Amino acid sequence: MRRPFIAGNWKMTQDRRSAVALAEGVSRQAAGLSGVDVAVCPPSCYLDAVATVLANGPVGLGAQNMYHEPNGAFTGELSAAMLLDLGCRYVILGHSERRHILGETDADVNKKVLAALAAGLTPIVCLGETLPEREAGKTLDVIRTQFSGSLAGLGAAEFQKIVIAYEPVWAIGTGKTATPEQAEEVHADLRRIMAECYTAPVAESVRIQYGGSVKPDNAADLLSQPNIDGALVGGASLKVDAFMGIVVHAVG
Ligand code: PEP
Repeated sequence: MRRPFIAGNWKMTQDRRSAVALAEGVSRQAAGLSGVDVAVCPPSCYLDAVATVLANGPVGLGAQNMYHEPNGAFTGELSAAMLLDLGCRYVILGHSERRHILGETDADVNKKVLAALAAGLTPIVCLGETLPEREAGKTLDVIRTQFSGSLAGLGAAEFQKIVIAYEPVWAIGTGKTATPEQAEEVHADLRRIMAECYTAPVAESVRIQYGGSVKPDNAADLLSQPNIDGALVGGASLKVDAFMGIVVHAVG
C-alpha cells in the first residue's frame, strides 16, 4: 500500500516573513492528519527558517534543487549534505523549469539523484512531456527516455527510496490540468516501465505524484486514480487553505 504524498513547491516566491507564516499555517493544519505524508519545499535561503517552524511537526522539509558534488569550488551551489544539515528530508530534482529554463539534462539529474540517495535524501524526480511532444504522440517515448536517463544506475533498493513526479510541462503553472484519465494513463505507463526495469513488487512500492495545476477542486478526481499517489503542487501550495484543501483529499 503506497502512502499518499503531497509536496508544495514554493519555487522562487516568498520572503522570510511570508515563508515562516506559510510554514506555520501548514504545520498547524497538518497536525492530527494521518495516512498522508506532507512536505513543503521553500527557496533555499529560507530552508533554515522554515526548518525551525517545522521541527518536530508532521510536515517534512524539501529543497528545490542541489548539486551532485559533495563540496568544493562550485560557486552558488548546495550539496546534499548541506541540505540534510538544514533539516531537509526531500529534494526536488529535474523539475521542468530546471530542465527547460536552466538547461538541466537527464545526465545532470542522474548525478544529482545518485548523490542525493547516497547522502540519505529522498529525491522527488520530475518527468514530463511538453505540449508539442504530446501532440506529436511522443509522450511515452519522452517519459521512457527521461526515466532511463535520470534514473540510470539505481539498484532496486535505491530505486524504492525515490518518489517520481509526473508533471506534464503544458500543465505546470498554466491552469491547464491533465484530466484524471490523461494523468492515469501516463502513471500506469510509468508503473509498467518500472516493472520492466525492476520487478512488479518494486514498481508497486514506488510513489508517483502528479503535478500540474493541482487545486482543491480537481485534487479528489486526480488522487482517486489507482496509480496517482499524491501531488507536487506549485501555485496552490502558496496559500495554506488551498494547499491543505488538496491534502485532505489524500487522507486515507
Ligand atoms: C510545479 O511547480 O511542480 C507545479 C506543478 O506547479 P503548478 O501546480 O503551479 O502547476
